Amino acid sequence: MAIRYRCSACGNRTRFDVLETRRTRSFFHFDLGGDCRVEEEEVLDSLVESVTCRWCGRATGIEALDDGGDGVDAPERPLATGARAPR
Ligand SMILES: [Zn+2]
Repeated sequence: MAIRYRCSACGNRTRFDVLETRRTRSFFHFDLGGDCRVEEEEVLDSLVESVTCRWCGRATGIEALDDGGDGVDAPERPLATGARAPR
């Protein structure tokens, strides 16, 4: 996943509070003493409920930028709060 956010109000691109609901499948590996390690976690579904700028505190006007990882600027699109991120 390569997503970036940008606050259109203050230009912040680095610090956000992200409220996200995730549905995951995890591999819990217990040792005989009962300690557990999560060795794999697969995100089956995720729902970003809100993104809040840590600089100016706004939760509106946050843009989600797809960073495709190929170095090409992706078109900006407004963050649709409640939209499901495709995986
Ligand atoms: Zn901001």
